[in-house]
Amino acid sequence: MENKLSFNDLICGTHLCLERQGPGSSEMTIKALSFLDNLSENSRVVDLGCGTGGQTITLAQNINGNITGLDQFPEFINLLNNKAKKLNLQERVNGIVGDMLNLPFEKEEFDLIWSEGAIDAIGFEKGLTYWNGFLKKDGYVVVTCPSWLTDEHPAEIEKFWSDAGSGLDTMGDNVGVMQKAGYTPVAVFTLPEKCWTDYFIPREAAGKALLEKHIGNETVETFIEDDRHEVELYSKYKQYYGYVFYIGKKM
Ligand code: SAH
Repeated sequence: MENKLSFNDLICGTHLCLERQGPGSSEMTIKALSFLDNLSENSRVVDLGCGTGGQTITLAQNINGNITGLDQFPEFINLLNNKAKKLNLQERVNGIVGDMLNLPFEKEEFDLIWSEGAIDAIGFEKGLTYWNGFLKKDGYVVVTCPSWLTDEHPAEIEKFWSDAGSGLDTMGDNVGVMQKAGYTPVAVFTLPEKCWTDYFIPREAAGKALLEKHIGNETVETFIEDDRHEVELYSKYKQYYGYVFYIGKKM
């Protein structure tokens, strides 16, 4: 009998081969970068919850300076470091395994803290507050976080997000949290629907392949069914919520 797969095995099994492990795109990463004015070749940048480094590589290709990608999964970090080597970026891009809530860095080390699709795993307020100490004064924080886009919050989708452990807040509430955590809000914008479909479509294909590899495995079947349910809810409720970029400058 096959060993039981852990949740982490399932996440890696469906996400290792994806360009991104959440909604996002290089166009939107570059758009977010356009709001920053403090970067030079001496800049120190960290990309927290970098996954396999889709946006880490985009950052490296569009700014100078040194970029560290950090993620909890060694499999993701290996892929990032291999990609960086292939693109001859290994002098400026380094992936490390670590915990976003226990950072192995000095106080006020960074000019820029980046994090796409990851802060909701630890909480928007908790993450922004803890990370503030690692930024230089006038340094920037740039994160994406799923958020309510409207004041109406249909019960079915509200329950989905709170069951997932990261209930949504409105953009206005999150901007207030950002200020309370010690940042001046610089820009806020919503990711287009294409960023979601570009994530869901390859994820569905990876899920299918995983199912074929583990025929009859109930853990895999439930996991893939949950992914399918998430896509269904997105298409039903997409006007109410989305991924939002929040850009702030340390006060
Ligand atoms: N930024 C990437 C990946 C987003 S998925 C992208 O947009 O494509 C979220 C990532 O956060 C996952 O790779 C997950 O492993 C990582 N993550 C979640 N909690 C973490 C933690 N406490 N410490 C480090 N990484 C974490």
